[in-house]
Amino acid sequence: MTVSRSATQHSMLIRRAQVFGGGHTDVRCTGGHIVECGTSLRPLPGEDDIDARGGWLLPGLHDHHIHLRALAALQDSVPLGPERIVDLGGLIAELHRVDAQLPAGQWIRGIGYHESVAGSLNRRVLDRALPGRPVRIQHRSGALWILNSAACAQIDLDGCEVPGVERDAAGRLTGRLWRMDSWLGERIPSLPLDLAAVSDRAARYGITGFTDATPGLAQHEVTGLAAAVHDGRIVQRLHCMAPPATADPRVERFTLGPTKILLDDTTLPALDDLAGTIRDAHESGRPVAVHCVTRIQLVLTLAALDTVGSRPGDRIEHGAIVPDSVVDHLRAHALTVVTQPHFPIERAVQYARDVPEEDRPDLWRLGSLVKHGVAIAAGSDAPFGAPDPWRILAAATTRQVNSGAGEAVPLLRALQMFFGRPDRPAVPRTLTPGVVADLTLLSASPQDITAHPASGAELVAATIVGGRPVYLAAR
Ligand SMILES: [Zn+2]
Repeated sequence: MTVSRSATQHSMLIRRAQVFGGGHTDVRCTGGHIVECGTSLRPLPGEDDIDARGGWLLPGLHDHHIHLRALAALQDSVPLGPERIVDLGGLIAELHRVDAQLPAGQWIRGIGYHESVAGSLNRRVLDRALPGRPVRIQHRSGALWILNSAACAQIDLDGCEVPGVERDAAGRLTGRLWRMDSWLGERIPSLPLDLAAVSDRAARYGITGFTDATPGLAQHEVTGLAAAVHDGRIVQRLHCMAPPATADPRVERFTLGPTKILLDDTTLPALDDLAGTIRDAHESGRPVAVHCVTRIQLVLTLAALDTVGSRPGDRIEHGAIVPDSVVDHLRAHALTVVTQPHFPIERAVQYARDVPEEDRPDLWRLGSLVKHGVAIAAGSDAPFGAPDPWRILAAATTRQVNSGAGEAVPLLRALQMFFGRPDRPAVPRTLTPGVVADLTLLSASPQDITAHPASGAELVAATIVGGRPVYLAAR
């Protein structure tokens, strides 16, 4: 690819591309939109000129489910999941290793923990491992933090009567905090989040937009993300899930999204309560995005939607278990299932052990849902899943684990799971005049990418957001 730069970036011509879904080769973008498609278009004076050399030009990839702040925090975190740590001895050794490298008093932030490493962790176990420094460890589900006593003392946890603070039968703190991310975030001295590094890496993957699916973001967190978009630390478009009362920061490339509703099997709301929560979001003008990873969560959500009705943009996050009996129901409410096709591969060992036999045929369905006309989109769920969309695409086209190869979809269909509009994730954007110029240009042909989708990350030639390159591969 060759690029001739001009003083202005407001107009750009991409030539000699294989354009997704079109017979043409050239695309002109002006003022943030595609304005002209054709063949043999000539560069205008002062226009940026990108020679695609036969590379594939796609609608920009949008990651429909990600947690940007948690992903940024990952860079200062210690992975403690079963991929790296196999037992309590390994966990203790890793904590000691990190302890030796950090300045006194700095918290250790562990992530990715799962019971398969060393059972159900609590404050006492962590105190025996590392008593002298505040330690907090996040469960891989994202639902739970486990703190040692030094950490509990620093945030004065014993004086807190907040839902989510677990206590044992004698009323003592276990150090286990459920669904308390925002609360903890306000109390723990945090290192500044490097959102720019997250955005930069995503641009290299060809990602032009994110939907942040973090539940219960506080207003200052939403405003902070919008500020990062405004000042260019985040170069992509950002659609941000938020509670109904959240004020729109009104920043270009930033939009407020649905209200995220979390369900936990241990604390499932009554049907009327869930229906009320959905109604509140709808009445404030927001669709809902309901976290459903079990059969009961999905059935309850559908029953609540039967009561209050669905609205355009309502979505099911994950849809980890979708029984045949609800497929018509999903379609009737026109719900989009935002799935993670890579989880059956990344979590194969855990699923093989933990998922009951009767749930396995319904686990992370993809191809069969597409076949039945269920609206589908994809998201990485990073940092709980790998952030590289090309690995997700590769997983979607193979799917030989758990659900069987019958759940695979062809690459052209898999790509469309990333082409959806931020507010309508299952409605693919096209490359036609009038649409926003969010584009992903690859240096290889459709045939090459189809043969090796996992290598797509290395083949991104340019990532273009609103008609401006935010990433150009070196040549
Ligand atoms: Zn998530």
